This record gives sequence, structure tokens and C-alpha cells, in this order.
Amino acid sequence: MNTIIDIPELFGTDVFSEAVMQQRLEPDTFHAWKQCISTGSSLPLQVANSIAEAMKVWAIEKGATHYTHWFQPMTGITAEKHDSFISPVGDGRVIMEFSGKELVRGEPDASSFPSGGLRATFEARGYTAWDPTAHAFVKDNSLYIPTCFFSYTGAALDEKTPLLRSLDEVSREATRILRLFGDTQTNRIHVSVGAEQEYFLIPKSLYAQREDLRLTGRTLFGAAAPKGQELEDHYFGTIRTRVSSFMKDLDEQLWRVGVLSKTKHNEAAPCQHELAPIFSDAGNACDSNQVVMAIMKKCAAKHDLVCLLHEKPFAGVNGSGKHNNWSLCTDSGRNLFSPGKTPRQNAQFLVFLAAFIKGVDEYQDFLRCTVATAGNDHRLGAHEAPPAIISIFLGDELTAVVESIINGTNYTDPEKSLMRIGVDVLPSIPKDTTDRNRTSPVAFTGNKFEFRMLGSSQSVAGPNVALNTIMAEELGQFADILEKADDFDAALQKLVCDTLKAHQRIIFNGNGYSDAWREEAAQRGLSNLSSTAEALSAYVAEKNVALVTKRGIFSEEEFRARHEIYMEAYCKVINIEARTTLDMAIQQILPAAVHYSSDLALAVQRKKELGIQAKAEASLLARLTEHTDSLYAACEQLRTNLENVPKEDTQAAMFYFRNTIVTDMTTIRSHADALEQLTDKTYWPYPTYSDILFY
Ligand code: ADP
Ligand code: MG
Repeated sequence: MNTIIDIPELFGTDVFSEAVMQQRLEPDTFHAWKQCISTGSSLPLQVANSIAEAMKVWAIEKGATHYTHWFQPMTGITAEKHDSFISPVGDGRVIMEFSGKELVRGEPDASSFPSGGLRATFEARGYTAWDPTAHAFVKDNSLYIPTCFFSYTGAALDEKTPLLRSLDEVSREATRILRLFGDTQTNRIHVSVGAEQEYFLIPKSLYAQREDLRLTGRTLFGAAAPKGQELEDHYFGTIRTRVSSFMKDLDEQLWRVGVLSKTKHNEAAPCQHELAPIFSDAGNACDSNQVVMAIMKKCAAKHDLVCLLHEKPFAGVNGSGKHNNWSLCTDSGRNLFSPGKTPRQNAQFLVFLAAFIKGVDEYQDFLRCTVATAGNDHRLGAHEAPPAIISIFLGDELTAVVESIINGTNYTDPEKSLMRIGVDVLPSIPKDTTDRNRTSPVAFTGNKFEFRMLGSSQSVAGPNVALNTIMAEELGQFADILEKADDFDAALQKLVCDTLKAHQRIIFNGNGYSDAWREEAAQRGLSNLSSTAEALSAYVAEKNVALVTKRGIFSEEEFRARHEIYMEAYCKVINIEARTTLDMAIQQILPAAVHYSSDLALAVQRKKELGIQAKAEASLLARLTEHTDSLYAACEQLRTNLENVPKEDTQAAMFYFRNTIVTDMTTIRSHADALEQLTDKTYWPYPTYSDILFY
């Protein structure tokens, strides 16, 4: 039966939104809050108390019994600790209480979150502070208060703090450029982000039978199913009933908490799907994406499914990523990456475009390291996701414009005089010029850039911090030059032309998966950091440290701490995968193959006694034995190698895991998968790829 839902009525019902605040707060309080978020000033305690009271009353009406300071430590996911509103009144009864102090500041006993050495144990407490630019919401009977998380000394311990800092910085520098173009109105420039989320859904009962999925989020074993994604029958295909009721439920839950869930469809791999929200302000988009991932998991469980957010749950079919659509927009809603209609608007567009191109070229390694994780290593450069080499796709029209500027030839007619920026009109650039082959890591798609290297499970904060920071830096450099110019138009022409000329190498419109591109990219001098182990060193590269400290996004200490944290995270992930590999190989796979082998041996013997040849059995037995012997030997090797992981030096450990342990795991898997294909299915201890992907 279909119940009709009134979406506009439902949308945001569980959000303490601006509209709700306006309705429920005294006008003075509401204006004080507005003032505080537009200027970034802190909130007087009295105002905080009034907001807290209104928030509490509202949340209780929505069924909340608890509140939580919700934060985003450097684990990639969110953290929450719930406190109830109860407060004793002395006669054995309680009242519901929530003060401004509790709203604004929290002190979770948070000593177990990664800090990369930013906290000594004696000052191990972390603090949370309300981010008044983000809206509180009610979920699962708790009031969620979005917060930033920092140490006793004020060092950022989360993903959100540097993101907010980078938003201020890019807004400030972009505004300087707008002023040069005569814009006196704009006070704030927002970063718009739309994060497309890919995920897998598989039956819970099958998931439960696989230790690898339960412990690592991906399959460490599994021979390819006879069918993969080659028929392209899943992409945009009809959605399974169970999945479709999951999606309906998911949308409703997301809409309630104010997530602008818009598009849903099946993706390329069997059991793979995508959700895209409508873009919003970067801070909000970052929170929303975390909410999307969390609610996806919970909602899947309700439908007897499991949502896999890992970048590579299954070998041989596509993994999952997250496309980060990014643009800059003024407070009056003007997109700065929209090519304009007048020569002036076009000139401004070209300044932003040139700044972006220069930034991506100069900080390729910085962008690359923000998407470097153990999970994403399975995707980047693996002929299904963008290559590990960063380049920008501009499309034919915009490339022609760039070339005409560089070569001093007219775009439409090479015979005519060169195009003068700020004087001539740009040819129209159609908005639907998009990169359909999806092989480009950064693509201009009409009025935004799409950064496509993100892993499906990661926070969008890191990549957006990098995009905002490099953009702020380049716009700042441009503003320095243009503000001093006597002849603005001439300076502009020269700046855009020189910049495009110097950074042309980063533009590439061809097939990013091809070997020819790898060679050409090397000739162009583009960096190719093929794995996490190589990419993470960008956190300690002098030029990157100089950039983030100059821009006030990270202190040097904070930035280096991140390096340490991400290296440790890599080691921990591979260590868990290696130990799970051993567990399954020794306790499940080997016994299954051995049982089947001994039954085969008996069969061979019995047949012999009857004077019958047992060619098939004997041959199978020989092949099984070959692989069981090799599997066992490879397990012994891995066990020994795990005992020899370098202890003192995280970087050495990371390379050891990458070079030695991952190789051992690959060897073990190859024998295990061969055994799976030789063994009677009734002996096999867990569901196979074809059981799971084609349930
Ligand atoms: P695709 O063809 O890549 O799937 P979609 O039309 O689904 O493209 O859009 C992808 C995402 O880009 C959506 O989340 C959308 O809201 C977002 N988006 C659109 N315009 C902008 C913009 N100006 N800035 C940031 N994100 C945007
Ligand atoms: Mg897209």
C-alpha cells in the first residue's frame, strides 16, 4: 500500500533550522545569533542560554531525551556521547535541563581518539565547541549538536575545524578579486559542495557469514563470479524491491533531518548504488554526507541488508567513490565558475579558472594525499576510478578558449586579432560539456569542478580543505598583483595569459586510464603517487606546510599530526586485514579444502579397490594438494612477517605493510581463490561472490 508523503511538510522537520529559530527565539536573541554567524564573533552566554532553552523545548517535543555534542574526529566518521537532559530537584524527582554552557562547550572523555601526538596523556581531554553555523537536529531520540573538537591547547583534532578555517580564507581572498571587478556588495563567498555517494547493499544473512566483511568491510577472498558487470545490466537498471523500499525509507529519514537527497540509481557493479544530494554550503554538505553514511547503515539493517561503504568490497567489479562537486558562490547566489555573458563577467570567470588551474598544478600532491587511504588504494589508478595522476579535464570549448589565450589567437577565427580579456566576449561555453568517460580526476562540468578521487567511506572535509586553501592562496597572489596594477586590463590580460601558459601541463582531456597518458604525464612532469604510502609524504613537503600555515588552516604541529595519524591508520587497517586473512585461511579455507581432499582420497582408494580408475578424483586431489601446501606456506610466511613489522618508525612500518604484508596477502588469496574453484560447494565455509552479488 502506498501512503502519500507530503515532502515539503516533512523536509527538515527534525532540524532546528533558521526558520525554527526565528519562530522560537526572541527577536534580540535571533539577531544576536545571526550577527554571530555572519561575523564569526562568539556568542554571549546570555544569548547561548536562551538558544539552549528554546532548543531543549523543541527537541523534547520531537521526542529527544538526550543531547550529544556530535563531532568528526580524524577517524573519517563521527563521534557522539549522549547525556540526558535530566537534573534532580532534591525530592527524588527530576526536571529537564539544558544550559547555554552545555550547548556551547562539551568535554567528552575523548582520550582515545587519534591525535598524532597532539595530546600528552596528562592533558588528554578533548573539548567540543558548538558550531553555530551548523544546525542542530534530532535523530534517534537525541538532540545532535554539531561541534568542533580540539585539544586543551586549542589544536584542532577533527575534520571540521580546518574546513571552517579554509572557508573563511577562500571567502576573504575571493572577495578581494570581486572588489577589483567593481563588486562592492558581496560580503561572503560560499563554497558549494555536492557529494555523490556510492555504496553497496548486500543481504545481512550473507554478510554475517563472512568474517572479512564483518571485520574489514571488504572481501579478502573470493573467486570472481561467472558473471560480473560486463553486460552493463545493473547501471541505471530496475531497482530490486527490497532495495527500493530501503531507498524510500532512506530518503524519508534524510529529508526529516534536512538532507537534500535528490538522485538515486543503480551503479555499474552488481549490488552497487548511488545517492546524490543537491549541493549546499560546504560545512553543511560535510555534515550531511556524514549523516547520509550513518543513516544508510542503520536503514539498511532495518531492511535486512548491510550497507558497505568500503572503497573496494569486491575484487573484479567496480569499487565505490565519492564525487565532490565544488564551486564558489556569492552571498547573493552568483556562481563564480559560471562563464558570464559580458566581457567583464568573462574576465572574472577566467581569473577564477586560472587560479584553480594554477593551484591544482602547484599542489597536485596535496590534493592527492587528501584521498590517500588503504581502501582507496584499490581504486585509484586501477582502471576503474580516476588515475592517481592529477589532471584537469576542461572539455573542448574551454580548452579552445585557454589555447586561444595562450597562443594569442582568436577563438573563433584564427585570422582575427587576439582575444583581449575583459574587452572581448567569450564564446559561449555550453553547460552540458561534461566528461562522460569519467577517467579524469578533476573535471570542469559547466559551472563547477568535480573532484572524483575521493573514496566512498571518507569525509569530504579533507579534500575540500585542500581545494579551498589552494584557491585562497592563488586568488590572494592574483589580488596582490592586480591591486597594484596601474592598467588593470593590461595586467589582467598578462596575468591570465602567463598563468595559463605556465600551468597548461595539468590540462588533459584524453583517456586517463591509458598507458600512453601515464607516459605523457611523466614527460609533463606531473606527479604520480600511486599508493597511500607514497602520497602521505605530501603532509611533510615544505611547500605544503608553508601553504597551510601561511593561510592559518593548520599549525605546523597540527598538519604533521595528521601525517602521523593517517600513516598509523593505514598500518592498522592493513594489520587487521592481514590477521583476518590468516584467521580465515587457517580456520576456514584450509580445513574445507583438506576435508574435501581427504574425501577425494578415500574415493580414489575405494575405486582402486574395485579396479576402477579415478582419473578426475586423482587429478583434482593433486591440484588441491598443490594449493593447500602453498596456502599453508604463504600463511606461515605472513605470520612470520607480521612479527617483524618495524616498531619505532611509523613511516617504515607503513612501507613494510605496503610492500611485504600486502604482497603476502595477495599470495594467500590467489591460492584460496583457486581452492574455492576446485572445492565441492557444500564444503565451502562462506558465501561466494555469486551468492552475494547475485542474490
Ligand atoms: P552527474 O552527472 O555528475 O551525476 P548531477 O547533475 O547528478 O551530475 O550533479 C552532481 C552533483 O553536483 C549534485 O550533487 C549537484 O547538486 C551538484 N552541483 C550542481 N551544481 C553545483 C555547483 N554549482 N556547485 C557544487 N555542486 C553542484
Ligand atoms: Mg558527477
